[in-house]
Amino acid sequence: MTQNDPSVLFPRVRTRSLSVGGVGIGGDNPVRVQSMTNTDTRDVDATLAQIKALAGAGCEIVRLAVLDLEAAMALKTICAATPVPLIADIHFDSRLAVQAVEAGVKGLRINPGNIGGPDKVDRVVDAARAAGVPIRIGVNSGSVDKELLKKHGGPTPAAMVESALGHVRLLEERKFGDIKISLKSSSVLGTIAAYRLMAKTVDYPLHIGVTEAGTAMRGAVKSSVGLGILLAEGIGDTLRVSLTADPVEEMLVAWEILRALGLRSRGPEIVSCPTCGRTEIGLIELASAVEDRLRGVEDVFTVAVMGCVVNGPGEAREADIGVAGGRESGLIFRKGEVVRKVKGRSELLPAFMEELEKFLEERRGV
Ligand code: SF4
Repeated sequence: MTQNDPSVLFPRVRTRSLSVGGVGIGGDNPVRVQSMTNTDTRDVDATLAQIKALAGAGCEIVRLAVLDLEAAMALKTICAATPVPLIADIHFDSRLAVQAVEAGVKGLRINPGNIGGPDKVDRVVDAARAAGVPIRIGVNSGSVDKELLKKHGGPTPAAMVESALGHVRLLEERKFGDIKISLKSSSVLGTIAAYRLMAKTVDYPLHIGVTEAGTAMRGAVKSSVGLGILLAEGIGDTLRVSLTADPVEEMLVAWEILRALGLRSRGPEIVSCPTCGRTEIGLIELASAVEDRLRGVEDVFTVAVMGCVVNGPGEAREADIGVAGGRESGLIFRKGEVVRKVKGRSELLPAFMEELEKFLEERRGV
C-alpha cells in the first residue's frame, strides 16, 4: 500500500451518473470541483473573466446567479464563450429557468416546489428534458419550509432531507431523473448528518458543501472537516468549498481536500515542515516563495521544503525536488540526490528558486 492510498477510505456510495455539458457526475466519474461566480451576471465581461479564472484554477463547472431577465439574456453571450459548463442558479421564477436553458446553460439549480405550481414545473422540466439539462435540488438549512421546521422542530437533517425529497418528487412525477441533490448547512455536523441520511435514501448524485462556511481560513477548515468526513465515507459526487472570499481561492482548498484523500490531484504538492528551534534558514519565506511560484501550475509533482537534516533529507528523497536546511546553509535534492550545496542563509532562497525554474523547464520539455 502506498502512503496516499484511497483504499483506506470507505467504498464510494454508488450513485447514478449524469452529465453537465459533458462533465460526468456520479457513478464512476471522479468527484467534480465546482464554484459560483460572485460578479453581477448582467456584467458579461466581469462574469466571463471570473469564469475563466475559476476554470484556470481547476473549476470544472461554474454556477451563476440569475436574478432577472437581463441576467438571463446575458447568459447567451456568456455561454458562447465559457470554457466550462455553466449552471444557472434560479429561485422562484420558472421563466428565468426556461430562458437560461434556451441561452445554453448545461444545468439548473432550482427547487420546483417554489416556482408557483404544476404548470410552471411542467415548463421547466420540459425545457430541461429537451436540452438534456440536469436539475439540482438544493436545500439549505436556512431555507427549509415552515411546515417542516415545525414538524421537525427546526432545520434538522431529517427536515432538510424531507424538504429535498418533496422537490425531487415533483420531478419524478414527471419522469425526470436527471437530478442532483445538495443539503447544505452552515453546521458541519448538520451537513454530515443530512448527507448521510440522503445517501441511504436515494441514489441520485450528491453535490456536497458546507454553506456559509466563513472567511478564507475558517471556511477552509469547516469545509475540509465536513467534506473530508463525507468523502472518506464515500459520499459526494461533486463539491463546492464556500468561502467569503474570491471564489478562485475555493479551488485551492477543494483540490487540497481531494488530494489529501488520495481521490484526485491537480498541481504540485508542497511538503513543508512547521519549523522549530532547529531551523537556521528562512524557511517560512522560502515555502511562501515556492507556493507563490507554483500557483497555477497544473502538473502533479512533489516539492519538499524542510528546515533541517532531521526530517529534511527523508522528505526530500521522496519529493521530485526539495531543499533541506542546515547551519545557515542547505542541500538541494532532486529525487533524493543532492544536486547542489548552498552556503549562506541569504543564498538559499535564490538558489532553490533557480533550481525550481530549471526543474519546471525540464518538465515542460524546454
Ligand atoms: Fe524542525 Fe527540522 Fe522538523 Fe523542520 S524538519 S520542524 S526544522 S526538526
